[in-house]
Amino acid sequence: MKKIKDIKKIRIRRVDPEVVEQKGLFGGGCMDAGCEDICCEYGCDVDYATLGLIYRYRRLIEPLTGASVDDCFSTELTPDEDYIGGAYRETLVREEDERCAFHLKDRKGCALFYLWQTKGLPKRIVPTICRVYPVTWHRGHLFVDRPIKRACRCLERAPKGVYIPSIYETQRRDILALFEIEPKELEKIERLRKERIRRFKNRP
Ligand code: SF4
Ligand code: SF4
Repeated sequence: MKKIKDIKKIRIRRVDPEVVEQKGLFGGGCMDAGCEDICCEYGCDVDYATLGLIYRYRRLIEPLTGASVDDCFSTELTPDEDYIGGAYRETLVREEDERCAFHLKDRKGCALFYLWQTKGLPKRIVPTICRVYPVTWHRGHLFVDRPIKRACRCLERAPKGVYIPSIYETQRRDILALFEIEPKELEKIERLRKERIRRFKNRP
């Protein structure tokens, strides 16, 4: 197997300006969205760094998903520098509810997000791809993952006259924690973010 490099952050050389135009996960975000967690229907890629935490905390995860962590993956470890930790595995999709094997059994939400929120586990236990959706990345490019899943909160009608943050703004903390964005691109995107706020304030 190819050597695994210890990637701490994913390198980004280009950010699509669309991430500061697309409406974000506003209001209560995912928690009160009527989307039935459709973004979990194909499972996800789990970074190597996340995988270690999943195995460390398997005794907390398994009662929430009803499955052994060993049975929650569909692929073996694949080295890839586009993932934190330098490799990834894909999760299995459960037949009974067509959701990722780490989705909470019989209720809304992800077991990994749930443990981060309620037990104070490191947020690294949630895969990168799930922390930033519907923003995604590929080989140095950060962009909006289109088409966005139907019924996602960021496609919902927003109240008029209220500033609705962009997807970059609602996911900004995670984006900055997980990606090493070229300084010039970061400056560009921050400038566009401020312009968007200014446009809203100066609207007729
Ligand atoms: S890890 Fe959690 S958020 Fe990500 S696809 Fe699976 S259930 Fe959904
Ligand atoms: S990202 Fe969108 S589709 Fe996924 S749980 Fe949140 S609101 Fe629902």
